[in-house]
Amino acid sequence: MYCYKVMIHPNNKQETKIRRTLNKCIECNNIIYDYIDSFIKNNEKIPSCSDVRKWFTIQKSILDNEVINKRKNMTKKEMIFNHLDTLFYDVSNDALKQEIKDTYNSFMRYFKKLAKYPVKKKYNNYKKTFYVDPYKIEFNDKKVRLEKIANNQKKNRQILNYINLAEKDRIPTGVNYYNPRVILEGDRFYIVVSVDDEYAPKKKIETTSNIIGIDVNVKAIVTSENVFYKAVTFDKNYKKALKKEKRAQNKLSRKYIKSQELKKSLKESKNYNKQRKIKNKYTKRINNLKEAHIDYVITSLIHQRPKIICIEDLDVKGMKESEEYEDVAKGIQQNPFRKFLKALEDRCNNYGIKIIKVDRYYASSKTCNKCNYKKKDLKLSDRTFICPNCGLKINRDYNAAINIKKYVLEHKDID
Ligand SMILES: [Zn+2]
Repeated sequence: MYCYKVMIHPNNKQETKIRRTLNKCIECNNIIYDYIDSFIKNNEKIPSCSDVRKWFTIQKSILDNEVINKRKNMTKKEMIFNHLDTLFYDVSNDALKQEIKDTYNSFMRYFKKLAKYPVKKKYNNYKKTFYVDPYKIEFNDKKVRLEKIANNQKKNRQILNYINLAEKDRIPTGVNYYNPRVILEGDRFYIVVSVDDEYAPKKKIETTSNIIGIDVNVKAIVTSENVFYKAVTFDKNYKKALKKEKRAQNKLSRKYIKSQELKKSLKESKNYNKQRKIKNKYTKRINNLKEAHIDYVITSLIHQRPKIICIEDLDVKGMKESEEYEDVAKGIQQNPFRKFLKALEDRCNNYGIKIIKVDRYYASSKTCNKCNYKKKDLKLSDRTFICPNCGLKINRDYNAAINIKKYVLEHKDID
């Protein structure tokens, strides 16, 4: 299964419809959450998923009728102000169906002890998403059609039914699609869709017999060829964006307090919502810079055309909890290790480069790469490794990268 993520450019009308669907899905999530939650609190048996769906269908029509009755007594001005009170009827049924399933499954995962107790979705979350039926979605080389988002009935207006894709010819047409979703991140819309492996963009390069060992830590990614890639936290633009986001967040909380003082709801207070959009913009920029940095490191690794890349199997959770790493816990939060590892695996699979993971309990940074002496009292603050046995003086991370490569050469089969 290969996943495509492409940005879309909806026009104004399409955008409001997408936003309404997103908000309605959250409302649906909250209703189902309360319903199931009440059963758990009363120690009763939870109904099956199909029963919950049947209950929601009745609930849906009751809520819709309430809104219609409210509209009858409204003047035109009030109608415009209350445009957010959309009907469930106007929203794609498949999106709501999937929302119920997802909410129900999150509770089931809790009972199987696979996850924590679920939380309600919030309207001002940074990331929102809804599901699209794979049989009703249509792609052509430049555009995508979504059910109930753009359904103009007029024949000469058919072109209005399609939303522009930001990338031309990227998603293959006329194949089976799995789990398509529309995502809003910050202020940008994306469409995510999975296809069978055979339609993934495959490129192969001629590899050399090189083997690269990599040591990943909070401050840098270091290879056994002594190439240093500084972490994204040292990037000038990243620092700037982080500062701006913090400032925007402070401003946002001030606006929040002000709207509370005036007893306005968050939906109504325009200044708060304006500021929230600005804040989300910076959050998006930060995430983009992180992803771009990962991309840059992986691309330059692949350009060296190695046969095998050796890497330590990272235990991020353990790193976060252990006392030794307490002061760098913040750094781990900012450096997406797991994302890096996954992206590296995906890209290398495409190019036919093998990845070998080294056991995480192998002390790569405490061993001398020349004489295999183990220096047990090496602290995290010691940046250079000095061997008391043979007198080798070497950068700590470079030493670790060489050790990882050595370990693979000695212990694992390479064909
Ligand atoms: Zn030594």
